[in-house]
Amino acid sequence: MHDWLIVGAGFAGSVIAERIATERGEKVLVIDRRDHIAGNAYDHPDAAGVMIHRYGPHIFHTNSAAIVEYLSRFTEWRPYEHRVLAMVDGMLLPIPINLDTVNRLYGMDLDSEGMEKWLETVREPVAKIETSEDVVVSTVGRDLYEKFFKGYTRKQWGLDPSELAKSVTARIPTRTNRDDRYFTDTYQQMPRDGYTRMFERMLDHPNIELRLGVDYRDLKDTPDWGRVVYTGPIDEYFDFRLGRLPYRSLRFEHVTRDEEWAQPVGTVNYPQTEEFTRITEYKHLTGQSHPKTSVTYEYPSATGDPYYPVPRPENEALFKRYEALAAEEPDVWFAGRLATYRYYNMDQVVAQALSTFSRIDARLGGVSRR
Ligand code: FAD
Ligand code: UDP
Repeated sequence: MHDWLIVGAGFAGSVIAERIATERGEKVLVIDRRDHIAGNAYDHPDAAGVMIHRYGPHIFHTNSAAIVEYLSRFTEWRPYEHRVLAMVDGMLLPIPINLDTVNRLYGMDLDSEGMEKWLETVREPVAKIETSEDVVVSTVGRDLYEKFFKGYTRKQWGLDPSELAKSVTARIPTRTNRDDRYFTDTYQQMPRDGYTRMFERMLDHPNIELRLGVDYRDLKDTPDWGRVVYTGPIDEYFDFRLGRLPYRSLRFEHVTRDEEWAQPVGTVNYPQTEEFTRITEYKHLTGQSHPKTSVTYEYPSATGDPYYPVPRPENEALFKRYEALAAEEPDVWFAGRLATYRYYNMDQVVAQALSTFSRIDARLGGVSRR
């Protein structure tokens, strides 16, 4: 008999398991239907010995010192600032769009002030910014929107940017300086020995039992636990009784090349051509030295594992109805990207998991260290 069942060994499930085991001293059973821990952050050496991320590139970045402090209990770090180039009109140009992007694309020689004035001439005023199209055309105008965002977004989501909430493309800023980093967060670093190793240390606790290759579906009718933390898709938990929440999937093609380097930066995006959205070369991220190199192509797909919640008002409305059902479930807590239907980065999921643990602890009262 366990005090807790935790469904999912990704960031949400593993952080909450570690907190309950350490702070409350209760016995936790963690299950995952995959044959490994770390959820979508899972990394491992491929057949050639190059470290790859099975579910696409995971780059850690955050502004939260508290999140870094927490994760540092389980890993050392390697500094890494991600850079991305986009293949546009046959050129490899910095994305997020910056001063060099527009100067090289249009053969101009603007300075920052010049770019700000130029943006004023191309941006399209939008009365109320609601969609992912609105955000971009109102900032950089239609031509840059079509070249950098329209095709990529249609591929990635199977939807036009005008059908997606503004929050999706608002993830990508526009800069009038020459900063070509993908992120500007205070902390940008990768777990030195990989994500999987970090999760191994997080789950290595005498109060935690781990069972892999086990689906909640197959256990739930014979419970031998007290309470549940569920981090899988929320609609699946309720047997899709209100209908399916859309999740976008990807097919990953992992390729090892018999050359030391494949591309100049960690990721190259393909907004205008190709069926894949981007190619990532891991050695840039991991700092590994190896005579060969491994890359991943991401092909968006409507079917397959759920990776991305799809931010649109009607989906949010359906999620809210599931959330109301979740609130009625006694002794079940829902956390993570799939169970709370949030397009969250890893640091946001860790923050949400830590606050879910605080709510659990407050609700159940007192620490019962055993
Ligand atoms: P998950 O990692 O999805 O873990 C949920 C786990 O639950 C899974 O392992 C699943 O198998 C298991 N599960 C589900 N249902 C059941 C069930 N019924 N029974 C048993 N087990 C079950 N974030 C960043 O910060 N930086 C990035 O660069 C970045 N890149 C990304 C790239 C891609 C392609 C994707 C898809 C995501 C990326 N993310 C990135 C987001 C990051 O993956 C998530 O924020 C994080 O992994 C979410 O953790 P989670 O625990 O909520 O979910
Ligand atoms: N995006 C785009 N062109 C790009 C990069 C991003 O249109 O070159 C849009 C696209 O809709 C994408 C979103 O911005 O899904 C968020 O990009 P991000 O790189 O954050 O996506 P993730 O890494 O989460 O897949």
